[in-house]
Amino acid sequence: MKSILSILLVVAFVISMPFIFNKSVTVTDPHKLDVDGNFILNEWVPSRDGAGPDWDYNLKPVQVSERVWCYFGAMEMPTKENAGDMSNSCYIKGDTEWITWDTGPSYKFAEQAYAEMKKIADMPVNHVIVSHEHDDHWLGNNYYKEVHGAKIIGPASINENYYGPRHIDGKDYPGMQTRMIKALYQNAIRKTVLVRVDESFEETTEFEISGVKMEYVKVGYAHSEEDWFLYLPDDKVVLVADVVMNGRVTSNRDGIVVGQINALNAIKSRDWNYLVPGHGFITDKTGADEAVQYFALLKDRVLEKMEDGVIADYITKEVTLDEFRDKDLYYVLSPGNVFRSYEELEMYDEDDLIDYSAENSGDEEDDEEDKEEKEAA
Ligand SMILES: [Zn+2]
Repeated sequence: MKSILSILLVVAFVISMPFIFNKSVTVTDPHKLDVDGNFILNEWVPSRDGAGPDWDYNLKPVQVSERVWCYFGAMEMPTKENAGDMSNSCYIKGDTEWITWDTGPSYKFAEQAYAEMKKIADMPVNHVIVSHEHDDHWLGNNYYKEVHGAKIIGPASINENYYGPRHIDGKDYPGMQTRMIKALYQNAIRKTVLVRVDESFEETTEFEISGVKMEYVKVGYAHSEEDWFLYLPDDKVVLVADVVMNGRVTSNRDGIVVGQINALNAIKSRDWNYLVPGHGFITDKTGADEAVQYFALLKDRVLEKMEDGVIADYITKEVTLDEFRDKDLYYVLSPGNVFRSYEELEMYDEDDLIDYSAENSGDEEDDEEDKEEKEAA
């Protein structure tokens, strides 16, 4: 059985050779074939067409407000089984065009999302607006670029951190490979390539596209290196992407607690009736409540334990967020968030702590030393 499998793998490897741009890549663990008989490579894989039917995302747009429809993804991590459909992306209905807010995890996702919107109004997508650099939110961009000629507005970090072209050993590559491109089945990720963000802003900017007033708000380093949200003042809708999640625990692996809290305050300062999170299904006025509570508790409890002299090794035992135990991904993500926030809060000097936490008084350093001595004794 094993030898048949290895023969199959060798045959498939030979077949896939023409698709591998980078001949210097060595495939050490060609462990899996996808439905098209291609490898799931953990190294560079170019966009491939392959054979077999496209992944059917089975998308159903949900109307959130008069001019906003969204696709809501699964409350899961990205997997082959959900084909990356685990984040939320939206369409805003302009006078003569659709404007997209985040484009999902793949070209195929975007293509199928647009096909549904076209049934509602047969208009092109001329503008794509992106929230942040995580690839479940923008890998559909090249569908809109190639098919609609859309202009892509998004954070500069996408171009800097992902987009090529990269010239390596005499060969050209369009960009970095993201986790989706590496992980998804070929019939879901086919045709997905990275495209450049056409326009980035330095600061919060107001503009109007096809009769829709928008405020593109920079919140900076919060959930990721550079987060933005989109406020539609006439619609009283705020599309906030991953600085808010509900029904599940957030992933703060690339984020910072203090940045998150600042972002949530920026969201609260706008007047809105509907909020669309980056992950989760709650879109009413309570949509941000879980995130507000989670980060407030996270910050306060970690700071408290740090003051008690608890060291990083024990922080995930000492600080749990039991209020969120029944939320999706609690066990997968919450301990990591706690651990990471310890690292972050540890890096602040006392002045920074006072800036962000009113309860701290000036004497805590002595107290902390006393407690540490007690614990050591
Ligand atoms: Zn994200």
